[in-house]
Amino acid sequence: MSRPLRRYLGVDFMGVATISASRVDLGRALARVTKAPFKPHQKLRLLRTYLLPKLTYGLVFGRLMAGSLQELDREVRSAVRSWLKFPPGVPSAYIHAPVKSGGLGIVSLSASIPSLRRQRLLALRGSSWGVARAAADLDFVRQQLAWCDRATPSAPKPSSSAEFAAALHESVDGKELRQCSESLISSQWVDWALEGIGARDYRHFHAVRVASLPTAVRCTRGSRGTTLPLCRACRSRSEHLYHVVQQCPRTHRGRILRHDAVAKQIAGALSSSGWDVERERLYHMPSDQGKKPNIVAVKPNQSCIILDVQVVNGSLDMEQTWRAKIRKYDTNDLRQAVSELKGVAPNNIRVMAATLSWRGVWCGKSATELRELGISVGVLRGITTRVLLGSYLNWWSFYRGTSLHPSLPPPPSSSSLIPRAGVG
Ligand SMILES: [Zn+2]
Repeated sequence: MSRPLRRYLGVDFMGVATISASRVDLGRALARVTKAPFKPHQKLRLLRTYLLPKLTYGLVFGRLMAGSLQELDREVRSAVRSWLKFPPGVPSAYIHAPVKSGGLGIVSLSASIPSLRRQRLLALRGSSWGVARAAADLDFVRQQLAWCDRATPSAPKPSSSAEFAAALHESVDGKELRQCSESLISSQWVDWALEGIGARDYRHFHAVRVASLPTAVRCTRGSRGTTLPLCRACRSRSEHLYHVVQQCPRTHRGRILRHDAVAKQIAGALSSSGWDVERERLYHMPSDQGKKPNIVAVKPNQSCIILDVQVVNGSLDMEQTWRAKIRKYDTNDLRQAVSELKGVAPNNIRVMAATLSWRGVWCGKSATELRELGISVGVLRGITTRVLLGSYLNWWSFYRGTSLHPSLPPPPSSSSLIPRAGVG
């Protein structure tokens, strides 16, 4: 006669022994979430805060094999990729790296469960209960600890959040996200309840953040030689996403619009905080042709700021870029010119820069300074998503544009201009 199956705190027991965690039907739960009429960020939040934590206890205390954890991870990644419509090639590290490091913050079960089991077993030795301390020396516990060692992913596979972040930042697509943790504002849109972001925009923002938008260079990965395909519009550089969004003459107008939108948002926030704001005035100076900072703002207590906006390349040290922009405007001539016009002492003028990357990553010091001026986190978060939108629209307009380098033949039909993701 078989012994009855008992379920206690989510773990199945047969007699006194745990049995395989067979009731973990993650695939069915993921399918239900996939079919539910939720936005992608709501599905991600369900997975992160409900589905995976619900599984953790049973996986730590129940019996299972390392291969089953990897299978569960594959199911999770597959669901996330479908929710965000990722093309092939988006690194798994983007899914498992912490949100503040530029990832999606989805826990990897194969990386976390063996470690949690090991912690539980090692805690037996420190228990105040003598029976638990005695159990720590049982063969069963030793076997379980050996299983944890075998099941923990070994290098080069990441086995912790920090290692997933490092793997993301070492990847071609993720290296521009390595300064993400300098300011939490860079990533808050990913998991905050930002109901204002539509499903399509949310997916587009991730495509910009992880640089998965199709370009000629991306779509020929693995199938070309060492020569990268040149930009179809200007023929001056390889058709990387960075070139399309940030450098190509075809998207120049889009970059101006994005820059002006950021300057407008900052100016509006300063006005709301009591600053008297002036935009785009040209200051004539004897030493050069003059300077036109994006914003000069004065407060009634006679403090004054000169502020310029820049949306930059995130693969460089953004603090250096930020300092270079400040140096450009922090000149005696400009201070004197602003001082005379605004009636503020030159040494009471602060020169600043609003610096973030085209993939929505803030220079930490720039974000901190803007917060000190009274600009809210909500406004800075809005600037992050505005930049992501602008970068996406640059890519969109690039593939619908027809302006070409004079030496190039006329374009084929417009529908064939947009490369398809994953086409080799
Ligand atoms: Zn170009």
